[in-house]
Amino acid sequence: MDFGSLGFRPLKLVSTVYVKSKKINAIKYAKCQEANSYKGIIRHEYSSMQSSLSKELPPVNTIFVWDFDWTVVNCNSDEYVPTQFLGYDEVFKRVTAEINEHGPNFWHEIIAKIINACHNEKAASLVGVLEKSAEMPYLVDVKQALTDVYNSHNCGQAIISDGNDKFIEAFLRQTNMLDYFTHGIETNIATWDNESLFKIAYQSSKYGGHECSRCPPNLCKSQALRNILDRINTKRPRIVYVGDGHNDACPALCVMNENDVLLAREGKRKLNPNSLSGPQSDDDQNCNETANDGASDGGTFGIVPTLEKVKKKEGLAPRCRVSTWNSGKDLRSLIHSILNEEESSP
Ligand SMILES: [Zn+2]
Repeated sequence: MDFGSLGFRPLKLVSTVYVKSKKINAIKYAKCQEANSYKGIIRHEYSSMQSSLSKELPPVNTIFVWDFDWTVVNCNSDEYVPTQFLGYDEVFKRVTAEINEHGPNFWHEIIAKIINACHNEKAASLVGVLEKSAEMPYLVDVKQALTDVYNSHNCGQAIISDGNDKFIEAFLRQTNMLDYFTHGIETNIATWDNESLFKIAYQSSKYGGHECSRCPPNLCKSQALRNILDRINTKRPRIVYVGDGHNDACPALCVMNENDVLLAREGKRKLNPNSLSGPQSDDDQNCNETANDGASDGGTFGIVPTLEKVKKKEGLAPRCRVSTWNSGKDLRSLIHSILNEEESSP
Protein backbone atom coordinates (compact mmCIF):
# COMPACT_ATOMS: atom_id res chain seq x y z
CA MET A 1 0.00 0.00 0.00
CA ASP A 2 1.00 3.59 -0.44
CA PHE A 3 -0.25 7.03 -1.31
CA GLY A 4 0.40 7.33 2.45
CA SER A 5 2.31 10.51 1.92
CA LEU A 6 0.39 11.32 -1.26
CA GLY A 7 3.56 12.59 -2.88
CA PHE A 8 1.60 13.98 -5.74
CA ARG A 9 3.03 15.51 -8.90
CA PRO A 10 1.60 15.97 -12.39
CA LEU A 11 3.33 13.80 -14.95
CA LYS A 12 5.99 15.26 -17.15
CA LEU A 13 5.09 15.41 -20.81
CA VAL A 14 6.87 12.74 -22.77
CA SER A 15 8.19 13.91 -26.13
CA THR A 16 7.00 12.02 -29.19
CA VAL A 17 9.68 10.12 -31.03
CA TYR A 18 9.21 9.45 -34.71
CA VAL A 19 10.79 6.34 -36.08
CA LYS A 20 11.19 4.86 -39.54
CA SER A 21 8.83 2.12 -40.66
CA LYS A 22 11.55 -0.54 -40.38
CA LYS A 23 12.02 0.29 -36.74
CA ILE A 24 8.25 0.28 -36.17
CA ASN A 25 8.07 -3.24 -37.59
CA ALA A 26 10.89 -4.34 -35.30
CA ILE A 27 9.05 -2.84 -32.32
CA LYS A 28 5.80 -4.53 -33.37
CA TYR A 29 7.61 -7.86 -33.58
CA ALA A 30 9.18 -7.35 -30.16
CA LYS A 31 5.77 -6.41 -28.70
CA CYS A 32 4.28 -9.58 -30.19
CA GLN A 33 7.07 -11.64 -28.59
CA GLU A 34 6.44 -9.86 -25.27
CA ALA A 35 2.71 -10.53 -25.52
CA ASN A 36 3.41 -14.23 -25.96
CA SER A 37 5.74 -14.21 -22.96
CA TYR A 38 3.00 -12.68 -20.78
CA LYS A 39 0.43 -15.34 -21.60
CA GLY A 40 1.96 -17.60 -18.96
CA ILE A 41 1.42 -14.95 -16.29
CA ILE A 42 -2.19 -14.41 -17.33
CA ARG A 43 -2.88 -18.15 -17.36
CA HIS A 44 -1.19 -18.66 -13.98
CA GLU A 45 1.32 -21.13 -15.41
CA TYR A 46 4.06 -20.03 -13.03
CA SER A 47 3.75 -21.87 -9.76
CA SER A 48 6.96 -20.41 -8.33
CA MET A 49 5.25 -17.13 -7.49
CA GLN A 50 3.11 -18.47 -4.68
CA SER A 51 4.81 -21.36 -2.99
CA SER A 52 2.73 -23.79 -0.95
CA LEU A 53 2.64 -23.57 2.85
CA SER A 54 4.54 -26.81 3.31
CA LYS A 55 7.02 -26.76 0.43
CA GLU A 56 10.50 -27.32 1.81
CA LEU A 57 13.02 -24.57 1.01
CA PRO A 58 16.78 -25.01 0.45
CA PRO A 59 19.09 -24.66 3.50
CA VAL A 60 21.21 -21.47 3.45
CA ASN A 61 23.45 -19.59 5.90
CA THR A 62 21.78 -16.26 5.16
CA ILE A 63 18.46 -15.36 3.63
CA PHE A 64 18.00 -11.91 2.08
CA VAL A 65 14.36 -10.86 2.33
CA TRP A 66 13.31 -8.00 0.06
CA ASP A 67 10.36 -5.68 0.09
CA PHE A 68 9.37 -4.87 -3.54
CA ASP A 69 7.86 -1.37 -3.88
CA TRP A 70 10.45 1.39 -3.37
CA THR A 71 13.07 -1.28 -2.72
CA VAL A 72 13.48 -3.69 -5.66
CA VAL A 73 11.71 -1.11 -7.86
CA ASN A 74 12.00 2.63 -7.30
CA CYS A 75 8.27 3.36 -7.33
CA ASN A 76 5.00 1.96 -5.97
CA SER A 77 3.65 -0.67 -8.38
CA ASP A 78 0.00 -0.10 -7.38
CA GLU A 79 0.34 3.56 -8.30
CA TYR A 80 2.68 3.19 -11.28
CA VAL A 81 0.66 0.78 -13.42
CA PRO A 82 -2.76 2.54 -13.48
CA THR A 83 -1.03 5.92 -13.85
CA GLN A 84 0.31 4.81 -17.24
CA PHE A 85 -3.29 4.58 -18.52
CA LEU A 86 -5.29 7.15 -16.55
CA GLY A 87 -2.62 9.68 -15.56
CA TYR A 88 -1.53 10.33 -12.00
CA ASP A 89 -4.02 13.16 -11.35
CA GLU A 90 -6.96 10.89 -12.12
CA VAL A 91 -5.58 7.88 -10.19
CA PHE A 92 -4.83 10.07 -7.18
CA LYS A 93 -8.30 11.63 -7.27
CA ARG A 94 -10.09 8.29 -7.50
CA VAL A 95 -7.98 6.51 -4.88
CA THR A 96 -8.32 9.42 -2.44
CA ALA A 97 -12.13 9.47 -2.88
CA GLU A 98 -12.34 5.69 -2.35
CA ILE A 99 -10.13 5.79 0.76
CA ASN A 100 -12.23 8.62 2.19
CA GLU A 101 -15.35 6.53 1.63
CA HIS A 102 -14.16 3.04 2.61
CA GLY A 103 -11.01 3.55 4.71
CA PRO A 104 -7.39 2.47 4.10
CA ASN A 105 -7.97 -1.24 4.73
CA PHE A 106 -9.61 -1.63 1.32
CA TRP A 107 -6.51 -0.52 -0.60
CA HIS A 108 -6.35 -3.64 -2.78
CA GLU A 109 -10.06 -3.58 -3.65
CA ILE A 110 -9.58 0.07 -4.65
CA ILE A 111 -6.54 -0.71 -6.82
CA ALA A 112 -8.44 -3.59 -8.50
CA LYS A 113 -11.27 -1.17 -9.26
CA ILE A 114 -8.80 1.32 -10.80
CA ILE A 115 -7.14 -1.38 -12.93
CA ASN A 116 -10.61 -2.42 -14.16
CA ALA A 117 -11.25 1.24 -15.01
CA CYS A 118 -8.06 1.20 -17.14
CA HIS A 119 -9.55 -1.79 -18.99
CA ASN A 120 -13.05 -0.33 -19.37
CA GLU A 121 -12.22 3.30 -20.03
CA LYS A 122 -8.83 3.17 -21.76
CA ALA A 123 -9.07 -0.25 -23.42
CA ALA A 124 -6.02 -1.43 -21.47
CA SER A 125 -5.51 -5.09 -22.34
CA LEU A 126 -4.16 -7.63 -19.87
CA VAL A 127 -0.95 -7.77 -21.88
CA GLY A 128 -0.82 -3.97 -21.88
CA VAL A 129 -1.10 -3.89 -18.08
CA LEU A 130 1.75 -6.40 -17.77
CA GLU A 131 3.88 -4.50 -20.29
CA LYS A 132 3.59 -1.40 -18.13
CA SER A 133 4.37 -3.45 -15.01
CA ALA A 134 7.55 -4.67 -16.71
CA GLU A 135 8.68 -1.08 -17.31
CA MET A 136 8.78 0.06 -13.68
CA PRO A 137 11.86 2.16 -12.82
CA TYR A 138 14.58 0.58 -10.72
CA LEU A 139 18.03 1.63 -9.49
CA VAL A 140 20.87 -0.12 -11.33
CA ASP A 141 22.86 -0.53 -8.10
CA VAL A 142 19.90 -2.19 -6.39
CA LYS A 143 19.71 -4.70 -9.25
CA GLN A 144 23.47 -5.22 -8.97
CA ALA A 145 23.11 -5.85 -5.22
CA LEU A 146 20.44 -8.48 -5.95
CA THR A 147 22.76 -10.02 -8.55
CA ASP A 148 25.69 -10.02 -6.08
CA VAL A 149 23.59 -11.96 -3.55
CA TYR A 150 22.36 -14.36 -6.25
CA ASN A 151 25.98 -15.13 -7.20
CA SER A 152 27.04 -15.73 -3.57
CA HIS A 153 27.40 -19.11 -1.90
CA ASN A 154 25.04 -20.17 0.88
CA CYS A 155 22.65 -17.24 0.42
CA GLY A 156 19.00 -17.35 -0.58
CA GLN A 157 16.56 -14.58 -1.49
CA ALA A 158 12.82 -14.01 -1.04
CA ILE A 159 10.38 -11.17 -1.64
CA ILE A 160 7.62 -10.30 0.83
CA SER A 161 5.49 -7.60 -0.73
CA ASP A 162 2.15 -5.86 -0.35
CA GLY A 163 1.95 -5.53 -4.16
CA ASN A 164 0.64 -8.36 -6.30
CA ASP A 165 2.19 -11.36 -8.02
CA LYS A 166 1.32 -10.41 -11.61
CA PHE A 167 2.94 -6.96 -11.59
CA ILE A 168 5.98 -8.30 -9.73
CA GLU A 169 6.47 -11.26 -12.03
CA ALA A 170 6.18 -9.13 -15.19
CA PHE A 171 8.94 -6.86 -13.83
CA LEU A 172 11.22 -9.70 -12.72
CA ARG A 173 10.88 -11.46 -16.08
CA GLN A 174 11.71 -8.26 -17.95
CA THR A 175 14.84 -7.68 -15.82
CA ASN A 176 15.89 -11.36 -15.83
CA MET A 177 15.62 -11.65 -12.04
CA LEU A 178 12.84 -14.22 -11.67
CA ASP A 179 15.37 -16.96 -10.79
CA TYR A 180 16.97 -14.84 -8.05
CA PHE A 181 14.24 -15.59 -5.50
CA THR A 182 15.13 -19.10 -4.43
CA HIS A 183 12.96 -18.82 -1.30
CA GLY A 184 9.80 -17.57 -2.93
CA ILE A 185 7.76 -14.46 -3.55
CA GLU A 186 5.05 -13.90 -0.95
CA THR A 187 2.51 -11.31 -2.00
CA ASN A 188 -1.16 -10.75 -2.81
CA ILE A 189 -2.52 -12.86 -5.65
CA ALA A 190 -4.01 -11.12 -8.68
CA THR A 191 -6.38 -12.86 -11.10
CA TRP A 192 -8.35 -11.87 -14.14
CA ASP A 193 -11.71 -13.63 -14.00
CA ASN A 194 -12.92 -14.42 -17.52
CA GLU A 195 -9.78 -12.61 -18.69
CA SER A 196 -11.43 -9.26 -17.99
CA LEU A 197 -12.23 -8.65 -14.32
CA PHE A 198 -9.11 -7.94 -12.25
CA LYS A 199 -9.26 -9.14 -8.63
CA ILE A 200 -6.78 -9.39 -5.76
CA ALA A 201 -6.78 -12.11 -3.10
CA TYR A 202 -4.99 -11.29 0.16
CA GLN A 203 -1.58 -12.87 0.83
CA SER A 204 -2.70 -13.76 4.37
CA SER A 205 -5.63 -15.79 2.98
CA LYS A 206 -3.21 -18.69 2.45
CA TYR A 207 -2.85 -18.95 6.24
CA GLY A 208 -6.55 -18.26 6.94
CA GLY A 209 -5.78 -14.66 7.94
CA HIS A 210 -3.64 -13.28 10.76
CA GLU A 211 -4.08 -11.77 14.22
CA CYS A 212 -1.28 -9.20 14.21
CA SER A 213 -2.54 -5.88 15.53
CA ARG A 214 0.26 -3.94 13.81
CA CYS A 215 -0.60 -4.99 10.26
CA PRO A 216 -3.48 -4.54 7.79
CA PRO A 217 -5.75 -7.60 7.27
CA ASN A 218 -4.26 -8.60 3.92
CA LEU A 219 -0.64 -9.09 4.99
CA CYS A 220 1.53 -9.44 8.09
CA LYS A 221 5.12 -9.70 6.92
CA SER A 222 6.10 -11.40 10.19
CA GLN A 223 3.65 -14.21 9.45
CA ALA A 224 4.99 -14.62 5.90
CA LEU A 225 8.62 -14.54 7.10
CA ARG A 226 8.00 -17.09 9.89
CA ASN A 227 6.46 -19.42 7.32
CA ILE A 228 9.53 -19.13 5.09
CA LEU A 229 11.82 -19.89 8.07
CA ASP A 230 9.64 -22.87 9.06
CA ARG A 231 10.08 -24.36 5.61
CA ILE A 232 13.89 -24.28 5.85
CA ASN A 233 14.39 -27.59 7.64
CA THR A 234 17.85 -26.93 9.02
CA LYS A 235 19.37 -24.37 11.37
CA ARG A 236 17.53 -21.03 11.17
CA PRO A 237 19.49 -18.84 8.70
CA ARG A 238 20.59 -15.32 9.46
CA ILE A 239 18.08 -12.82 8.04
CA VAL A 240 19.08 -9.71 6.10
CA TYR A 241 15.89 -7.74 5.53
CA VAL A 242 15.73 -4.87 3.01
CA GLY A 243 12.70 -2.58 3.11
CA ASP A 244 11.34 0.93 3.30
CA GLY A 245 7.72 0.85 4.48
CA HIS A 246 5.63 0.97 7.66
CA ASN A 247 4.78 -2.71 7.22
CA ASP A 248 8.47 -3.71 7.17
CA ALA A 249 8.71 -2.69 10.84
CA CYS A 250 6.67 -5.70 12.03
CA PRO A 251 9.22 -8.43 11.12
CA ALA A 252 12.06 -6.23 12.40
CA LEU A 253 10.32 -6.05 15.79
CA CYS A 254 8.77 -9.51 15.99
CA VAL A 255 10.95 -11.99 14.07
CA MET A 256 14.51 -10.73 13.69
CA ASN A 257 17.13 -11.37 16.38
CA GLU A 258 20.61 -10.19 17.39
CA ASN A 259 22.34 -11.97 14.51
CA ASP A 260 20.10 -10.45 11.84
CA VAL A 261 20.47 -7.21 9.89
CA LEU A 262 17.79 -4.71 8.89
CA LEU A 263 18.67 -2.50 5.90
CA ALA A 264 16.07 0.24 6.28
CA ARG A 265 15.58 2.80 3.54
CA GLU A 266 15.45 6.32 4.93
CA GLY A 267 15.05 9.82 3.55
CA LYS A 268 12.72 10.96 0.82
CA ARG A 269 11.14 9.19 -2.11
CA LYS A 270 11.99 10.27 -5.63
CA LEU A 271 9.73 12.82 -7.25
CA ASN A 272 7.72 11.81 -10.32
CA PRO A 273 8.56 8.07 -10.26
CA ASN A 274 5.53 7.30 -12.43
CA SER A 275 6.95 9.26 -15.37
CA LEU A 276 10.08 7.06 -15.51
CA SER A 277 10.79 3.56 -16.79
CA GLY A 278 13.56 0.98 -16.66
CA PRO A 279 17.08 1.37 -15.21
CA GLN A 280 17.90 4.57 -13.29
CA SER A 281 21.18 5.76 -11.84
CA ASP A 282 21.47 7.29 -8.37
CA ASP A 283 22.35 10.55 -10.14
CA ASP A 284 18.80 10.59 -11.52
CA GLN A 285 17.35 10.22 -8.05
CA ASN A 286 17.02 13.86 -6.97
CA CYS A 287 15.24 12.63 -3.85
CA ASN A 288 15.72 15.85 -2.02
CA GLU A 289 14.80 18.22 -4.84
CA THR A 290 11.96 20.61 -4.14
CA ALA A 291 9.37 21.62 -6.68
CA ASN A 292 9.35 25.14 -8.08
CA ASP A 293 5.64 25.41 -7.47
CA GLY A 294 6.08 24.69 -3.78
CA ALA A 295 3.91 21.58 -3.97
CA SER A 296 4.45 18.68 -1.57
CA ASP A 297 7.57 16.53 -1.96
CA GLY A 298 7.74 12.82 -2.73
CA GLY A 299 7.19 11.89 0.92
CA THR A 300 9.41 10.14 3.45
CA PHE A 301 10.09 6.41 3.66
CA GLY A 302 8.03 4.98 6.52
CA ILE A 303 10.10 2.32 8.26
CA VAL A 304 12.48 4.47 10.33
CA PRO A 305 9.77 6.88 11.60
CA THR A 306 7.56 3.85 12.40
CA LEU A 307 10.34 2.20 14.45
CA GLU A 308 10.96 5.49 16.26
CA LYS A 309 7.25 5.82 17.06
CA VAL A 310 7.04 2.26 18.44
CA LYS A 311 10.11 2.85 20.59
CA LYS A 312 8.60 6.03 22.01
CA LYS A 313 5.13 4.60 22.62
CA GLU A 314 5.90 0.99 23.57
CA GLY A 315 9.59 1.06 24.50
CA LEU A 316 10.14 -1.62 21.87
CA ALA A 317 13.10 -1.64 19.46
CA PRO A 318 14.52 -4.16 16.96
CA ARG A 319 17.05 -6.54 18.49
CA CYS A 320 18.84 -6.85 15.14
CA ARG A 321 21.53 -4.55 13.75
CA VAL A 322 19.94 -1.67 11.81
CA SER A 323 21.70 0.11 8.96
CA THR A 324 20.08 2.76 6.78
CA TRP A 325 20.37 3.50 3.07
CA ASN A 326 18.84 5.81 0.52
CA SER A 327 20.69 5.41 -2.78
CA GLY A 328 21.43 2.26 -4.74
CA LYS A 329 25.15 2.76 -4.08
CA ASP A 330 24.50 2.92 -0.30
CA LEU A 331 22.62 -0.37 -0.44
CA ARG A 332 25.11 -2.13 -2.67
CA SER A 333 27.96 -1.14 -0.36
CA LEU A 334 26.10 -2.42 2.74
CA ILE A 335 25.29 -5.71 1.03
CA HIS A 336 28.89 -6.03 -0.17
CA SER A 337 30.08 -5.77 3.48
CA ILE A 338 27.53 -8.38 4.62
CA LEU A 339 28.59 -10.78 1.84
CA ASN A 340 32.24 -10.28 2.91
CA GLU A 341 31.26 -11.18 6.52
CA GLU A 342 29.56 -14.25 5.08
CA GLU A 343 32.69 -15.29 3.17
CA SER A 344 34.93 -14.92 6.23
CA SER A 345 32.61 -16.72 8.65
CA PRO A 346 33.51 -20.35 9.46
ZN1 LIG B 1 2.40 -7.97 11.68
